[in-house]
Amino acid sequence: THFGFETVPLTQKQSRVDEVFANVARRYDIMNDLMSGGLHRAWKNAFVTELDLPRTARRFALLDVAGGTGDIAFRALKRGGHGVQVTLLDINGPMLEVARERAAHRNLSDRIEVVQGNAESLPFPDGSFDAVTIAFGIRNVPRIPLALQEFRRVLKIGGRFLCLEFSEVTVPGLAKLYEAYSFNAIPRIGQWVAGDGEPYRYLVESIRKFPDGLSFASMIEEAGFDRVSHTPLTGGIAAIHRGWKL
Ligand code: SAM
Repeated sequence: THFGFETVPLTQKQSRVDEVFANVARRYDIMNDLMSGGLHRAWKNAFVTELDLPRTARRFALLDVAGGTGDIAFRALKRGGHGVQVTLLDINGPMLEVARERAAHRNLSDRIEVVQGNAESLPFPDGSFDAVTIAFGIRNVPRIPLALQEFRRVLKIGGRFLCLEFSEVTVPGLAKLYEAYSFNAIPRIGQWVAGDGEPYRYLVESIRKFPDGLSFASMIEEAGFDRVSHTPLTGGIAAIHRGWKL
């Protein structure tokens, strides 16, 4: 593609990603806190607030793609009313196992369905969901345009798509700081907590390669979404992108 993230073969990219998350699954939550200084919590809260979930018993079907250990799913269940039903999909067995344990621990197993699957080919019929979310996941998907089309396909007419992902830091002073932090500190924290810095070098690299906010917004438009917009968070370290299926 013209974004140039297909420099490694697609299947190789996915298996690299799978290996990273299978190895880190048990330490994934603590790692997020350490590496983001807790910032990911604020971003995820802002993200779920945007979903505008019904607080009543009205039914609302949410699909959280690349849902991992369930950070978005559990926030949605906590925030929304009893009609909110979450389907958490991820490609990675070990990450889903942690999600299932967390669900059982919170007595939420009946309101969350955990599905192993690929974002590029979703195992759901057209028009199944009121909203589709993906948080810090789209960057890992080898064929992003395919995944975006799938998200739109499984949405109901009038449904919304929300994406939370790392973006491009636009504040000059912060950009330098952030670069130094991610290239040095993040692999070091990985080495220290998980015993291996290499996978984190790969993740930092994938963040650097991911398109800036405007380019990603046009990819979302190309997938057929309407009223596409985006908002940077914390000087552009992350961003929320949105689109509607109208
Ligand atoms: N959404 C969670 C969160 O915000 O904490 C997890 C994000 S984690 C950084 C990225 C997740 O994407 C991993 O759980 C990984 O298994 C998943 N993933 C990677 N490629 C995928 C694919 N092709 N389809 C579905 N999930 C995928």
